[in-house]
Amino acid sequence: MAVDVGHYAAEPGVISASGRPEFEYNRDLALELKSQLERSGMQVRLIGERGEYQRLGWRTRDAQGADLFVSIHHDSVKERLLPRADEFAGFSLFLSRFNPFPARSLACASAMGKELRAGGFKPSRYHADAVLGESRPFADEANGVHYYDNLAVARSATMPSVLVEAGVIVNAAEEAKMRDPEVRATIARAVAEGVRECLSK
Ligand SMILES: [Zn+2]
Repeated sequence: MAVDVGHYAAEPGVISASGRPEFEYNRDLALELKSQLERSGMQVRLIGERGEYQRLGWRTRDAQGADLFVSIHHDSVKERLLPRADEFAGFSLFLSRFNPFPARSLACASAMGKELRAGGFKPSRYHADAVLGESRPFADEANGVHYYDNLAVARSATMPSVLVEAGVIVNAAEEAKMRDPEVRATIARAVAEGVRECLSK
């Protein structure tokens, strides 16, 4: 099992409402997810946690042999919608139909979404919207799973792969939640439970 920390120090992804880079949120959540998975006896490889992984190829190389590749991210909105960022919240899950295991990727993403909902989190849904998002079609609407076929990290992985957008950190209220260690642990537990479910099938 491989857990990938999205982005790297020189290009740290989204800058949150309070000015904290996404990379730091991704690293904190990835570490928590790793420890949750290890608690159930799973072997977990953490990828890119030191912030030097500028090349995508290094991530998929490090993941070789893993049964699942989960990439951890935190979300933003289109630039022109940033003034309305507080209207956007929730998690989103993405997979690519160009991944060699699309059905298994979808099963894992759906299980994660189901567990996140059971943990009290809501899917953000706006990525499917043509105006607010990028018209990313739903793969499993109820569980917040979308197709994002050209997503490089999911496409190039040689094992099932899911990208997790845990929450919208350009929304100040949601950012505060994402920063709360208890919320982070709840998200990690839910994602870990989804991983266990789909890998045991
Ligand atoms: Zn990201």
